[in-house]
Amino acid sequence: MKQSKAVRGLKIAEPLIFEKSMPGRSGASLPAPCCEDVALEIPEEYLRGDFDGFPEVSEPQVVRHFTRLSTFNYGVDTGTYPLGSCTMKYNPKINEVVARLPGFSHTHPYFPEHMCQGNLELMWEMERYLAEIAGMKGVTLQPAAGAHGEFTGIRMIRAALEKRGEHRKKMLVPDTAHGTNPASCTLNGFQSIEVKSGDRGVLTAEAVEKAMDDDTAGIMITNPNTLGLFEEEICKIAEIVHGRGGYLYADGANMNAVMGVARPGDMGFDVLHFNLHKTFSTPHGGGGPGSGPVAAGPALEPFLPIPRVVKGADGRFTLSCDHEDSIGRLKAFFGNYLVIVRAYAYIREMGARGILDSAHMAVLNANYVRTRISGTYNVPYNRTCMHECVADDTTFKKYKVNNVDVAKGLIDRGFHPPTVSFPLNVHGALMIEPTESEAKEDLDRFVDALMDIAEVARTNPDELHLAPHNTHISRPDEASAARSLILTADMESLGS
Ligand SMILES: *Cc1c(COP(=O)(O)O)cnc(C)c1O
Repeated sequence: MKQSKAVRGLKIAEPLIFEKSMPGRSGASLPAPCCEDVALEIPEEYLRGDFDGFPEVSEPQVVRHFTRLSTFNYGVDTGTYPLGSCTMKYNPKINEVVARLPGFSHTHPYFPEHMCQGNLELMWEMERYLAEIAGMKGVTLQPAAGAHGEFTGIRMIRAALEKRGEHRKKMLVPDTAHGTNPASCTLNGFQSIEVKSGDRGVLTAEAVEKAMDDDTAGIMITNPNTLGLFEEEICKIAEIVHGRGGYLYADGANMNAVMGVARPGDMGFDVLHFNLHKTFSTPHGGGGPGSGPVAAGPALEPFLPIPRVVKGADGRFTLSCDHEDSIGRLKAFFGNYLVIVRAYAYIREMGARGILDSAHMAVLNANYVRTRISGTYNVPYNRTCMHECVADDTTFKKYKVNNVDVAKGLIDRGFHPPTVSFPLNVHGALMIEPTESEAKEDLDRFVDALMDIAEVARTNPDELHLAPHNTHISRPDEASAARSLILTADMESLGS
């Protein structure tokens, strides 16, 4: 099979071997024991019967092994990572410096309040920044991920309805929604009812009006939606839902296009979750814990989880559990604290002006990519988008090349693929979110790679069917790879 010029082969000097132990090798030199009678007495029940020693390896072997493994991965520090909706933006290194300051990293969650005033102050300020960006009244930093934030927000809606003596059973969810949205409804005892987007790829007030009734608790909306389009009828929709006694939930996982520009609270939303790991530059994916703070407007603010950080008249900070309508505690301690510190550093570093510039740049970059690829790639809702754009594989159907083949071709050309096959209402979707951090020349290289793939689809489609060609494994069964991880270096299990 012929390969295009763009496919570059990596030279691998040795096969991938995990078992490198050899008796007598060592990477450590320990001083001789100072005195003989310091026997370490480990109680019998803690001794491992079947332990046959640590691997015996030299320091260079260990360093090479792990350094080499690290190069098999692809990250935002390696190159363009346009994973739509997931926002793999650059994580500024100052965030790491700040999160490692001993006052943050060495604080124990059981410290009494007077010993961690600085930590509480940071939480209090962070809550205010997020409330300002969301246009809401109060914030909790507890939830550990976006889906956890959704659970929290929907639980608050349920609590508010129960306080009114109502037990509504349904929640409206648009067909563009992230899969976690219906799941969060189900976990809270609501049945999710799908609302179809209109011809322009956004919700119509008409469709919401039809679906909304007195047994419906509200609606969960992602705005901009996962097609990267702004929900233009949002104010009208808010009026309809509120008019029937419902609440509006904003899935603010991805606020990249609107932060500093427009506030969900002003659009009529009652509650919103953020993903600090998407919008506020904290690491995610396999790389670390997430954080999904929830912001609430006046109607739902009393239901926020406890404990809440309170600033006294004397300027001192305390933790208060004195909120009778609160849904209670959502997580041990105070959320993923050091993730919150990183996002705080990002917000302080950017400032109000930088947050606004970042949103503008994210939108500009997405529209630059959209404009350059449309024509060659089909873009189903081809008008000004927000932080991401969605193309599909329609133009390659005649060569039997699909969106996954395009994604795998991008790997061979040195890029992380975009999100594929989501949102579900676009068949064969390629969802591209360049983020604000990509330079124009990097966007151009990415688009050039997409153009090269389009050309190869026409002239040599098999190259794409068999891609990627220069990775250690080519097309694994992705579901099994994620669900049946083998985490040992045991050669037998690796072979099976
Ligand atoms: C990522 C995402 C979520 C879920 O966030 P997690 O942190 O992965 O739980 C929810 N909604 C949208 C729109 C998202 O992009």
